[in-house]
Amino acid sequence: MEFELGPRLKGIDLKGDKCVMWPGAMRNGYGVKKIPGKGDNSTINAHRYVYEKATGKKIPKGWHIDHTCRNRRCINPKHMEPVSPKENMMRRSSAKKGEYKHKYYKGEAN
Ligand SMILES: [Zn+2]
Repeated sequence: MEFELGPRLKGIDLKGDKCVMWPGAMRNGYGVKKIPGKGDNSTINAHRYVYEKATGKKIPKGWHIDHTCRNRRCINPKHMEPVSPKENMMRRSSAKKGEYKHKYYKGEAN
């Protein structure tokens, strides 16, 4: 897994299973990253950026990243799952009802 994340992220271990906190700027609870050469106001979601860089996969347009660890600041690609807007809505409503449990939830055995 070799990819360039910029000087701030050098040395961050994305191979482990633990949550990795985004060390940069935050907006609305999510990490954001400046787009190089595009000025201070243009940012991208850090976790989406890291996911695409780390996995080499493109997140389909309009899709969401579901943080399976429920930690929005986390940038561990293993804790991210691209979901369609429909799937995202379903997960949100079932999570509210307590039906949706994921393997990265604390205390889950699998
Ligand atoms: Zn995480």
